[in-house]
Amino acid sequence: MFRNPVFIAWVVSIAAATGLASTDVRAWGPDGHRIVAEVAQRRMSEPARMEALRLLALDGETSLADVSNWADAIRDQPSHAALAGLTRPMHYMRFADASCRFEPTTTCVDGACIVGGIERYTAILADHSRSDADRAEALRFVVHFIGDVHQPLHAGYRRDRGGFSHAVKIGERETSMHGIWDYDIVGSRGIDWRDYATELVARAAGPEAVAGTPAEWAQESCRVTRDGDIYPPTERIDADYMTRMRPIVERRMLDAAQRLTRVLDAALAPRARSG
Ligand SMILES: [Zn+2]
Repeated sequence: MFRNPVFIAWVVSIAAATGLASTDVRAWGPDGHRIVAEVAQRRMSEPARMEALRLLALDGETSLADVSNWADAIRDQPSHAALAGLTRPMHYMRFADASCRFEPTTTCVDGACIVGGIERYTAILADHSRSDADRAEALRFVVHFIGDVHQPLHAGYRRDRGGFSHAVKIGERETSMHGIWDYDIVGSRGIDWRDYATELVARAAGPEAVAGTPAEWAQESCRVTRDGDIYPPTERIDADYMTRMRPIVERRMLDAAQRLTRVLDAALAPRARSG
C-alpha cells in the first residue's frame, strides 16, 4: 500500500505550491506503514525489540518505521530487481466473489499472495539458524506485508484490481479508490505520523485483540470492501467521506500494529538453546 505515482505527483505539486521543500517526496506518502511499524516497535517485548534493533543495525537502520516501506522501494532499485519480482505478488491478494473465502489453491497459488508472503518471511525471521542477513531482510518484509494485508483494498475485488481501476476525484485531482485508501484517508487526519502512532498506542488493547491468522486478516480486509459504503455512489470523494472512513482505517492500522507486535515478539525473542 501507500504507493501511487498520481499521489506522488500531487504531493510534489502541493509542496511546490506551498513552498514546502522535501528531498524525498515519497517520505510523506507511506505514513500508514510507518504508523503501524512505530506502534509495534513501542509495544514489543524488550527482548524482541532488542533483537529487531540488532538486525536493523546491520544495515545502519534504527527503527522499524524507517524500513517499513523498503519492500515497495526496492521496485525502483535495479540491484534488487529479482527480489522485487519474486515478492511483487506478495503485497496483495484478490477475491473473486463476495464470499471473501481464502482458497490457497486458487487465490494463493504457490504462496504467491500476501498470505504466502507473510508466512514465508515470518518463518525465515523465526528461524534463528538462518543468517542475520536473511532474518534482517525477512523483518523488513514482515513489517511491510502485515501493514499491507490490513489495508482493505489490498484484499479487495479482482474485478477492479483492488480499487486501482476504480477512478475517483478529489476536487480536480484524479486518483483511484486504492490511492484514497493508501494515502488520502490517513493524510486527512492532518497530523505527523509519529503523533498518529502515539494516539494509536494509547488506544491499543491487550493480547486478546490480536487473534487470527494471515488468511483471516486478509478475509477481514475483503469483508470491509464489501460491507458498508466504502464505494460511494459518485466518483467524487469529499471531506465527509474521509471523516466517515477514517475510523475504519484507524481500526485496521491498530489491528495491524497489534498483530505485528505479536508476530515479532514470537519470532524475535531469544530461544532456549537445544543440543
Ligand atoms: Zn506494499
